[in-house]
Amino acid sequence: MRVILLGPPGAGKGTQAAAVKERFQIPHISTGDMLREHVKEGTELGRKAKEYMDGGKLVPDDLIIAMMEDRLSKEDCAGGFLLDGFPRTLPQAEALDRLLSKMGIKLDGVVLLDVSDDVVVERLSGRRVCRSCGAIYHVSFHPSSRGDLCEACGGELYQRDDDREEVIRRRLKVYHEQTAPLESYYEGKGLLRRVSGEGATDAVLKVLQGN
Ligand code: AMP
Repeated sequence: MRVILLGPPGAGKGTQAAAVKERFQIPHISTGDMLREHVKEGTELGRKAKEYMDGGKLVPDDLIIAMMEDRLSKEDCAGGFLLDGFPRTLPQAEALDRLLSKMGIKLDGVVLLDVSDDVVVERLSGRRVCRSCGAIYHVSFHPSSRGDLCEACGGELYQRDDDREEVIRRRLKVYHEQTAPLESYYEGKGLLRRVSGEGATDAVLKVLQGN
């Protein structure tokens, strides 16, 4: 199963991906998570990417493409993968096509998780993340019973810099301008499936199982 999850920030790609990963036993590859790890580790890529990420802008294509060429050539991707947050621009999609054809493999599908901008802002501006274990909460929809501390590990809950409202609006603008064109790109290849991101958290899995 080789799948791309497309959709705006806050569509619930990470949550949907978890169900798919468990069912198909394939790696969930999130470029956002990979980049945050680089920032945390203080690598050269992390230092270059941080400024773009904090500002809600896209990290340059050449950096992302090199990172993904490396990741997709790892052994755990041989049986399939679920891409989340990549590709995000037309040049990235074209680079992925070239890479996959070099590897002699094809995509099985691209699932678009559809949500309105208002829902995205409500979800992301209330999101809080545990600094220690990465658990995710929401101030209204899923608050921690321990206030500003993580229920699971007691770690401090914080708001990602890019989850501030003005940055969310910028990320949405970037999505509509640079990533939304990928919908017609994959539609043209007959690969696109649309799923509401405002329904069940296993909606993507259900669509893929119906394949
Ligand atoms: P995410 O967690 O997927 O929302 O990603 C967080 C941030 O990482 C984005 O706002 C971008 O700055 C950067 N990023 C993640 N994936 C990509 C990508 N494929 N291309 C460019 N920038 C990316």
